[in-house]
Amino acid sequence: MYVWQQAEGQRHARAAVHLGSLDAGATFAALCGSEPTVGENDIHSPGKPWLDPTCPPCDAAFRRALGIPDARPDVASRPAGLSKARG
Ligand SMILES: [Zn+2]
Repeated sequence: MYVWQQAEGQRHARAAVHLGSLDAGATFAALCGSEPTVGENDIHSPGKPWLDPTCPPCDAAFRRALGIPDARPDVASRPAGLSKARG
């Protein structure tokens, strides 16, 4: 089972080995291979939705793991790097 976690400007997927949500300052192994750190603004709550874009490699790995076909093939063909402007 996997869950989504926003961190460092993107919404990553991770294995649901942690029950509940992660605290600010926690790091986790994302499916894309990175180990981002959860920031204060990445703590999810009903009044504070996640607005950062989905990490494309995590999305692909998440879909592969669950056997979900990519519904938006155009996204995968876009050049990476647009998110690098953040930081
Ligand atoms: Zn990722």
